[in-house]
Amino acid sequence: MERANVIIVGGGIVGCAIAAEVALHTRDVFVLEELPRVGMATSSRNSGVIHSGVYYPPDSLKARHCVEGNRLTYEFCAAHGVPYKRTGKLIVATTAEEKTTLESLLARGKQNGVEGIELITESELRRREPNVAGCCALRLASTGLVDSEHLVKTYAALAQQRGAHIATAAKLETVAPDSGFVRVSARQAGEMECRVLINAAGLFADEVAALCGNHRYTIYPCRGEYWEVVAAKAHLVNGLVYPAPDPSGHGLGVHLTKTLWGTLLVGPNARYVNDKNDYENALEPRESFCARARKLLPQLEPDDLRPAYSGLRPKLTPPDRHSAEDFVVARDPAYPHIIHLVGIESPGLTAAPSLARDVSQLVRETLTGTTN
Ligand SMILES: Cc1cc2nc3c(=O)[nH]c(=O)nc-3n(C[C@H](O)[C@H](O)[C@H](O)COP(=O)(O)OP(=O)(O)OC[C@H]3O[C@@H](n4cnc5c(N)ncnc54)[C@H](O)[C@@H]3O)c2cc1C
Repeated sequence: MERANVIIVGGGIVGCAIAAEVALHTRDVFVLEELPRVGMATSSRNSGVIHSGVYYPPDSLKARHCVEGNRLTYEFCAAHGVPYKRTGKLIVATTAEEKTTLESLLARGKQNGVEGIELITESELRRREPNVAGCCALRLASTGLVDSEHLVKTYAALAQQRGAHIATAAKLETVAPDSGFVRVSARQAGEMECRVLINAAGLFADEVAALCGNHRYTIYPCRGEYWEVVAAKAHLVNGLVYPAPDPSGHGLGVHLTKTLWGTLLVGPNARYVNDKNDYENALEPRESFCARARKLLPQLEPDDLRPAYSGLRPKLTPPDRHSAEDFVVARDPAYPHIIHLVGIESPGLTAAPSLARDVSQLVRETLTGTTN
């Protein structure tokens, strides 16, 4: 039987960033990924935005890891040749009420330590985005865009260079923890034993926790759909333009993104679905989708939109609750050598390198017996 120090379940951005970080100080690190390649799930089905950290309550894990992850992601992309751009972002108010929301975001951003954040006037908004409707905007200089698929693959390659092993098409199927080791079995990889098990299974992190005997988590998949604007109208937007956040708390609102490739994306919406593999059934009709986007970009017509792709948010918040749960990064209460990362929705892409540092420290404490 293969013996590992650390097994990470899930080869998304979080699992791969953790593998790269843990492999710096530990030998025999394995990633088990169910799909044929790393990064095929939520980590490549998102907006690719390097968030600044204005949306999240001060002292939350989301705020801390987003602000730190923003800095680390830029550093990483520059050092490893991952395509990115520090575009900045505008959150646009269209009513006096929304302007008040922007003022609260400004205060929250400052509390969270976000730098380069300012309210701009309607004429400044017009200068930057002549076709966008709004009475003022919050400008976030530290927001940017990254090629998320490239980013995951680069973390995975770095993990391998540092000696980690990545097994794909290797679905974790059973977990048998005891006080010293955790024995697991996975498709293709067979039976293995490890000293630390890390659950970074994204949408399926609740099911992996349940395999460990921990039934406290439920993940609700919440779909975000994107449409692409026809090339003839892609020039209407220059950068990243968001509405004031959705009061439901389920998403940041349908926004406009001039991508790294010069195309114009609209989305994502936020719709709970019943199936964690349902990316396509019953998409929101083009007309209603367009109506949301027209609030920011009045020149957009339904015929300008082409279906693009969708992703599923791994939410801990059920559909009927209007709040957002924080990330969970926790040792299993019964087996402290099992570490769960659950509810890693947005800003998880941004936060990944910062989450990886914290988890790496937990691993080090476990392996050296300094866990309290
Ligand atoms: C619509 C949308 C837009 C978003 N936009 C942004 C954004 O702009 N900026 C940002 O910072 N964040 C964004 N996010 C959030 C971000 O994409 C996620 O937080 C991040 O990708 C989560 O990464 P992960 O590694 O935890 O999950 P995943 O990428 O889902 O990886 C988990 C992996 O675990 C594997 N797995 C599951 N079960 C098993 C098993 N039993 N055995 C083996 N492997 C298993 C899966 O196959 C998967 O590859 C967005 C999310 C969505 C849905």
